[in-house]
Amino acid sequence: MLFCGRNKFNLNSPLAKKSLGQHFLHDENISGRIVDSLMEKLSEPNNVIEIGPGPGALTKILLKKKINLRCIELDQRMIEHLNKTYPSSKDKVIHGDFLKVNLSEIFNDKYSVVGNFPYNISSQILFRILQEKETIPIMVGMFQKEVGDRIASIHGNKIYGILSVLVQAFYDVENLFIVEPASFTPPPKVKSVVLRLIRKKEKEKIYDEKYFFAFVKNAFGQRRKTLRNSLSQLIVKEKLTDAIFGKRAEQLSVQQFIDLANKFAKENGNQG
Ligand code: SAH
Repeated sequence: MLFCGRNKFNLNSPLAKKSLGQHFLHDENISGRIVDSLMEKLSEPNNVIEIGPGPGALTKILLKKKINLRCIELDQRMIEHLNKTYPSSKDKVIHGDFLKVNLSEIFNDKYSVVGNFPYNISSQILFRILQEKETIPIMVGMFQKEVGDRIASIHGNKIYGILSVLVQAFYDVENLFIVEPASFTPPPKVKSVVLRLIRKKEKEKIYDEKYFFAFVKNAFGQRRKTLRNSLSQLIVKEKLTDAIFGKRAEQLSVQQFIDLANKFAKENGNQG
């Protein structure tokens, strides 16, 4: 579906498509801060993938930096527009779906990720980043505020959930700044937030990653119940006698999740 919205500073850019989560940033100050937040932490190799460049609010700044840039964009109209407006973007923009492209074919090495993400798939983008975490040291991205707050939330909080635990187990999360709807064309209904994720230096000792993911998902499966109930699909009840299983998932810290999942994974003896 089309709805009216051109990039304010770029009247030739294609109309925004709602189905692709297109809200174009026109506040150059914000674009600059996003790129700076990436650049100040970037280290060799300077490989960067931008997800969803659109008409190029971030791309035009990134193109001027000493980095190896590749962009992944689903909308062919945007690619044509980008190539016309910023000739140096030619050969740098890949037509594809970030959730599906073979990322290991783009760089033979580690790469960081940046983007003003399409909000309709932002959780899926994060899960993909988690899958590829050994090759993604940094991510700077814009999320709708409610999702960003969930990712950054600590335990003891209603919004603390699967995404908070899984992301924070592998990345240090910084909630950098809020962006108002008026900074976009067309404006989204909600506020946005820019997050920075930095891969943890001290590698967590997760005994069996697959088990850890399943453990966290099960624990939050019925978040109002005690862990004793919600984990009973995964673990026989006789093993859930400790007082900690009388708590609910949202009361456990990330470290407690790691420790508990490790304990059961070791008992099962399956190392991932
Ligand atoms: N970065 C631009 C555009 C943000 S809107 C800006 O800040 O103005 C989000 C962009 O992601 C759109 O250009 C949209 O076409 C693109 N997009 C949507 N789904 C995508 C997907 N699965 N893979 C890659 N790009 C996608």
